[in-house]
Amino acid sequence: MRNEPLIIAATSDFAGKVRGKAFPADEFDRRLKRGVGWTPTNVQITCFDAIAESPFGALGDLVLIPDPGTLIKVDFEDEHPAEQFVFGDILKTDGEPWKCCTRSILKAALKRLEDVAGLHMLGAFEHEFQFLDQEGSASGAYTAAGFRAARDFGETLFSVAANAGLNPDTFMKEYGTSQYEVTIGPSMGLTVADHAAILRELVLITAERLGRRASFTPLRDPAGVGNGVHIHMSFQDREGKPVTYDADGPHQLGEPAAKFVAGVLKYLDRILAITAPSVVSYTRLTPHRWSAAFNNLGFRDREAAVRICPVSEISDIAAADQFNIEFRAGDAAASPYLALAAIIHAGVQGIEEDLPCPEATHEDLSLLSPEDLDARGLQRLPQSLEEALDRFSADTTVAKWFPDGFAEVYTLHKKGELAFLKDKTEAEICKAYEIAY
Ligand code: GLU
Ligand code: MG
Repeated sequence: MRNEPLIIAATSDFAGKVRGKAFPADEFDRRLKRGVGWTPTNVQITCFDAIAESPFGALGDLVLIPDPGTLIKVDFEDEHPAEQFVFGDILKTDGEPWKCCTRSILKAALKRLEDVAGLHMLGAFEHEFQFLDQEGSASGAYTAAGFRAARDFGETLFSVAANAGLNPDTFMKEYGTSQYEVTIGPSMGLTVADHAAILRELVLITAERLGRRASFTPLRDPAGVGNGVHIHMSFQDREGKPVTYDADGPHQLGEPAAKFVAGVLKYLDRILAITAPSVVSYTRLTPHRWSAAFNNLGFRDREAAVRICPVSEISDIAAADQFNIEFRAGDAAASPYLALAAIIHAGVQGIEEDLPCPEATHEDLSLLSPEDLDARGLQRLPQSLEEALDRFSADTTVAKWFPDGFAEVYTLHKKGELAFLKDKTEAEICKAYEIAY
């Protein structure tokens, strides 16, 4: 029997999940105008597939319009049909972006970066994940044996990612049990998040096809390290000239980049509910896990919320082109579109407020008293999703960065996720996220 090839029109939603509706591939051109129908309350489906309180109820209609630039066809050339999906924007039926469309929210943030500072962003997401079907000796940190245990996976992933136009960069056995890391080359603006969303799907699809199981859960085992999503960013002016690096600037940061970093760190406690939005995210964001527990700037320090990445003098790439900052307080429970939008808005706010460049930290901040931290303008980040959500929902500046009503719907979504986990043990909560992501 012949299969009718279907393409999934997809969105990356508040749960950081890819959801969508499929249509026949033959109808692609028509669907670029008509889209597929979408239901407002879908945005309240949590990562556990329970529906959080929805202000929309059973009412309303939206359209998800595919963006042809994100069409992906993954053909493993085995007995299964090719996987086809395309990301898009959720619009109201009058064509205006819907307030809860994560991709439209990122577009608005990028526009603000351009309007306020004349800057364009070059960036790339770095992802860590764990195999759920691999334990034991092949798990050694950074080992060749660990790499070989997933060579088949890595080589297949690189092939499909390259075919998808992603520029796969490195693949390695990370430190944690059965943990791996994959990096991809940088791209501009909206494509940074498109590529992150596509990469996550490709990892999951490749694992499925090879009979393996991968999870991006922020923290699988509280006794181990977490799975981070690190977002690398640099800026170009309107002519495409890199402006992040200044040999004479504070920590070699150019002026707009320094203010951007200051804004991200000032508002970090209030955007964490977006960039690290699961319950287990807050166990990952504790000292000595090489994640981020404070709103600090690190000069080549891996326990920093924002790290200035090294520039190699022997590279064939010029310093100004290599130089980038890395946001480390994020994970894959967040939609890449929302996480990047929140970071950009916080950074642009820093530019608007003309904030001074923060000092970089070099020491173990967990040894400092709250008074010492305070004296240096540092703070311990929120230690639970509830706390992060309270900071987010109470902040009127942050609420204004997003469309009217977004903050309320997002907060209700996360409260629904919390309610689902009420009365569960830590082990049960970890398990639930491991399955969800
Ligand atoms: N696994 C660490 C995290 O949760 C990051 C380790 C590293 O790549 O520096 O972010
Ligand atoms: Mg890593």
